[in-house]
Amino acid sequence: MPAHRRRFIAGAVCPRCSEMDTIVVDADTDERECVACGFSEARPTDAPRQEPRTRVNRPARRSDAPEEAVRLLDPAKKPD
Ligand SMILES: [Zn+2]
Repeated sequence: MPAHRRRFIAGAVCPRCSEMDTIVVDADTDERECVACGFSEARPTDAPRQEPRTRVNRPARRSDAPEEAVRLLDPAKKPD
């Protein structure tokens, strides 16, 4: 394999022909291809996963209560 470095995925089953150990991954393009039937699939893991990032930045629930109280006071506190 001069141009493309391909690597077999052990235990991988082709979605088209259902053959096992026939799926190779191109090291350059991350494209999957079945050597048995010619099935090819572009980067299955490329799509960004939906990770709940807000979870990290979210403060503890305890601090949620006071924050809400302040918010409720806000509209009435208008300096008219
Ligand atoms: Zn196949």
